[in-house]
Amino acid sequence: MVVVGAGECGTRAAFELREAGWTGPITLVGAENVLPYERPPLSKSVLTGPDDACEPTALCEGRALRDAGIEFVAGAAVTGIDRDAHHAVLSDGRRIGYQRLLLATGAAARRLPLAGIDAGGVRYLRSRADALVLRDRLRPGARIRVIGAGFIGLELAAAAAARGCAVTVIEAAPRPMSRAVPTAIATALADRHRQAGVDLRCGLTVERLTRRDGVLLLELAGGELLECDTVVAGVGAVPETALAEKAGLAVENGVRVDARLATSDPDIFAAGDCCSFPHPLYGGRRIRLEAWRNAQDQGRAAARNMLGDDQPFAAVPWFWSDQFDLTLQIAGLPDTAGQEVVRERPDGVRIRFGLGTDGRLLYAAAIATGNAVAKDIRLAEMLIARRAAPATAALADPATPLKALLRQAPS
Ligand SMILES: Cc1cc2nc3c(=O)[nH]c(=O)nc-3n(C[C@H](O)[C@H](O)[C@H](O)COP(=O)(O)OP(=O)(O)OC[C@H]3O[C@@H](n4cnc5c(N)ncnc54)[C@H](O)[C@@H]3O)c2cc1C
Repeated sequence: MVVVGAGECGTRAAFELREAGWTGPITLVGAENVLPYERPPLSKSVLTGPDDACEPTALCEGRALRDAGIEFVAGAAVTGIDRDAHHAVLSDGRRIGYQRLLLATGAAARRLPLAGIDAGGVRYLRSRADALVLRDRLRPGARIRVIGAGFIGLELAAAAAARGCAVTVIEAAPRPMSRAVPTAIATALADRHRQAGVDLRCGLTVERLTRRDGVLLLELAGGELLECDTVVAGVGAVPETALAEKAGLAVENGVRVDARLATSDPDIFAAGDCCSFPHPLYGGRRIRLEAWRNAQDQGRAAARNMLGDDQPFAAVPWFWSDQFDLTLQIAGLPDTAGQEVVRERPDGVRIRFGLGTDGRLLYAAAIATGNAVAKDIRLAEMLIARRAAPATAALADPATPLKALLRQAPS
């Protein structure tokens, strides 16, 4: 068994292969020259934590890999797949034979096509190395300009503001996180950023980057010039599909897999941020998720299917984001629902439910301090998984426990 990519997904898959009973060799190949680590802390504690706690959380120690009999090849990329010979070809020329191979190559930060980008200074945030460079630049008073108000841009802005930087966020769309979250939640987050002194400007584009007398300048549409110490682009991610394309596998907004996470080659699977898959809870719509839990769940599911389990992947999408003292949680897909129902709890927290035209619950989203929404979102996730169509009055009524709705839902 060969796993390409030692991120969240690939590492979980390698361990699952062993736990599910595979006794033959397992090789985990990672292009980064470090032990596998978690990416979510990169825009959170790695940027804001004390100097002695700024490393991202390790996914596992080297000893755990050795104990599980997983051969970990770090700092080498798989550059080709010889599908006829069943060989993975490494950047150092090595060839590793496989019976089944998993592509867990993740995604890369989308590069910004900006005039003058060669003036230098545009950073991205995807890897440990990126985060450590940025951490060093988040000094009190530093002028940090963030292009893009998606999750990564906003988490970074919150971290920079917490470190005392002067932060500006430029977003082309009329509101932050335009596609990913319900409008009311995006507004609450935007308010929190502004309250913390972040200059969040929406409906505005950047024109070019220049350097004059050694000063980096960001020119905005309309001509305004912003002096910058650091410019960071958070303009989305693109799936790492180059290897799959070179190997002749089907690609469609990510490596195209079927419900069992198998690619167009039955001996090659793909999972995590790099793949698009049909979701049975959303009418078989093909989606690609960039979410930590999905990477874990798909890694494990792909591993079992590589061993012949043959199970469709149907987990409810789940995502969280931490910004300042607020945590946002979303279960399901917010862009699928037609009707929104709001439940206002006695503590003032609002849970937003999205329903389809058939009355089915398709998403639940909420924002609050700390972990205050976790339980309700977890229950909503179970309702979504059961394809429940709760009465809107009951959903809106905080006196009706979600647990009671779950008891009435099909099992
Ligand atoms: C800064 C940041 C913050 C995030 N915060 C959150 C959050 O708060 N909540 C949330 O739900 N999600 C969050 N995410 C998303 C989450 O981290 C990802 O969904 C998850 O890491 C995806 O895991 P993956 O294994 O599919 O891909 P990745 O983590 O991208 O790992 C893929 C690995 O494969 C390697 N690789 C690629 N090609 C090759 C090759 N040819 N050969 C060998 N190795 C290769 C790459 O170097 C990389 O190490 C965040 C992501 C980032 C970047």
